[in-house]
Amino acid sequence: MEKTLRISKIRDGTVIDHVPSGKGIRVIGVLGVHEDVNYTVSVAIHVPSNKMGFKDVIKIENRFLDRNELDMISLIAPNATISIIRNYEISEKFQVDLPSRLVGVIKCKNQNCITNTHEPVESEFEIVSKHPLVIRCVYCERTMGERDIFS
Ligand SMILES: [Zn+2]
Repeated sequence: MEKTLRISKIRDGTVIDHVPSGKGIRVIGVLGVHEDVNYTVSVAIHVPSNKMGFKDVIKIENRFLDRNELDMISLIAPNATISIIRNYEISEKFQVDLPSRLVGVIKCKNQNCITNTHEPVESEFEIVSKHPLVIRCVYCERTMGERDIFS
């Protein structure tokens, strides 16, 4: 247990814990949090952690994550823990799971790739390496690293 609770409890929503320190902002980026959203997001950066030294923690009120969002988070924070909060209680807790293939989540960098044309083909990537992160398009074989994926 952490000694101090940095962010107040939320009634309903999602807590993303054990995000590597410094990656919290990137997680916020892939979740598409911007000024027009109708929910509250709290980010604690550089929180002391027994397990990790330091970590980032994100709390999102009244919002739950879909499969694609969890896949994106797993790319940034492979050991992140997701807690679903309902009525102040943890109703579900699990670790993100980096899938072996990412379908329809990421856009291929290759403009000529079939997934970027008008063909009804969903993007699909296989994971080449987790550390550092490298993925490869199964259609055009373009490889992409963390910087390509999240820019
Ligand atoms: Zn491609």
